[in-house]
Formats: sequence, C-alpha cells, structure tokens
Amino acid sequence: MKYKIVCKNDKVSKKVCDELKKIISKEETNNPDVIFSIGGDGTFLDAVRMHLDVLDQVYFISIHTGTLGFYTEFLPHELKCIINNIKKKTLNQFNLLKIDVDGEVNYALNEVTLTSQQHLLEGDVYINSEHLMFVRANGLCISTPSGSTAYNKSLNGAILDFNVNALQLALIAPFETINSRIISPLVLSKENEITFKPKNKYFDITYDRIFISKENINTVKVSYSNKYVKYMVNPEKSYINRLKEKFIGK
Ligand code: NAP
Repeated sequence: MKYKIVCKNDKVSKKVCDELKKIISKEETNNPDVIFSIGGDGTFLDAVRMHLDVLDQVYFISIHTGTLGFYTEFLPHELKCIINNIKKKTLNQFNLLKIDVDGEVNYALNEVTLTSQQHLLEGDVYINSEHLMFVRANGLCISTPSGSTAYNKSLNGAILDFNVNALQLALIAPFETINSRIISPLVLSKENEITFKPKNKYFDITYDRIFISKENINTVKVSYSNKYVKYMVNPEKSYINRLKEKFIGK
C-alpha cells in the first residue's frame, strides 16, 4: 500500500497518526493510492483539495478525531480493522461541483458561496441559459449532497442523501419584495447548470475553505462535475445513523 496522511494539527490527531504509521510500518509516499485524513470535516476538505489533480488515482480513508466529522467514516480505535479490511474495501464517491468564473475553473466538495456583506448581492439566476429570477440577498450558496449538511443546512436548505445526484441553491438572507420574488432553496438534478450574472462590481467567493475576493465578474456557472472523490465506506455506519449521531442525539 502506498499511502499519505493528512493530519489535523492537534495532539489527539498526531497521536492517532503515529499509531497508524506504526501499524502500517512503511514510509509515506508522495505518489499514494490511499490518503488517510485524520481530523474532522475541515481536514477532509483540505485533503481533497490537496489532491484535486489526482482524484482518479487515489481513494480516501477518513478517521474522526475532531469536532463534527460528518465526512469521517472511522474512529481511532478502528485503525487495525481498517488496515485488515483494506483489500476487501467498499468504495463510494462524492461528486464535486465545477465552478466556472469567467472561464476560470475551480471545484468544491461542500459548496460554493457568492457573498456581499456591505451591499445586497444582486443579479440574475439562469438555469441552463433560461432566466429564473432576479435575486437580492447577502449571497448565494450552491451545494453538493454531501455539503448539504454544512452551510446549506444553516440556510434551511434540504439535507440530501449522499447518493442523490443533485445540486442545491440556497440564498443567504434573501431580501424579497413584491417586485423581486424568489424561490429558495431549489434542488436540481445533476444535468442542470446554474448561472449567476451579478450586478455588483465586487463580491466574495468561497470554495469550501478557500476565500477569494473578486472584481468585475460577468458570469459564474456552477454545475455537477464529473470529478469525484472515492472514499472507503464503513459498513457499520448508515447514513441515517450518521444524521442521528451528529444532529439529533440519543
Ligand atoms: P469552520 O467555520 O471552522 O467550521 C465549519 C463546521 O462545519 C465544522 O464544524 C465542520 O466540521 C463542519 N462541516 C464541514 N463540512 C461539513 C459537512 N459536509 N457536513 C456537516 N458539517 C460540516 O469552517 P471549516 O472547518 O473551514 O469548514 C468549511 C465549511 O464551513 C464550509 O464548506 C461551509 O460549509 C461551512 N460554513 C458554515 C457556515 C454556517 O453554517 N453558517 C458558515 C461558513 C462556513 P468539523 O468540525 O468536523 O471540521
């Protein structure tokens, strides 16, 4: 096994990282086929972003040492079991969003947000070149199913099962009047492309954890990408169990 570890910078995660290295008893490589993410969702998002160019060659094993850990499949006491099961592994996938900002392409695993803090963000939303609505809001959040439990959830967006192939538009603090009516949240099947044509000169864009301020943007196009992240599934952990454990409790 050629592996690499992306580890959160805290005591607990580093300890788990050392234990894992002892069990594998081999050096890490820069040309891995397995990437271990040790930490929480933030660490998993970082691990994926670091490997965007080689996603077709690797799969991820996520180990939870942190706070929420919605993406994380395994717990530190399961290390030996993970290694023993690597040969008969079951993989699943998370598709990314493709974001094209005036021809500059980026990807997101959770969501892309377009925001303006000082003034309302204003602009037209098109679905596949067809005009849907004129929006006035603090921002737009377009998320994947796996990202639907992150920022999207705080915007009262729907939680989508990992295996639904869709993208979701939710507005951040929408400003609705009789003259500018909107619909949100909106879940669209993966064949659809959402285009936003802003009126604002300046606004901010985030791709998961990455934040960029932009000027003079004409068009932002968001679609369901054919790039995806493969990850090792924990057969003991159902999606419903994950929802209950992380958001509802006993
Ligand atoms: P952060 O603000 O430090 O923490 C964001 C929280 O969201 C963490 O607790 C993280 O889990 C959790 N999280 C990330 N992805 C998730 C997912 N798919 N499902 C459920 N929870 C998830 O930011 P960060 O660690 O850099 O993560 C970036 C993400 O923060 C963005 O992609 C965005 O979704 C989210 N965010 C949310 C809000 C909001 O809800 N109002 C505002 C800004 C950003 P861990 O603790 O396990 O890392």
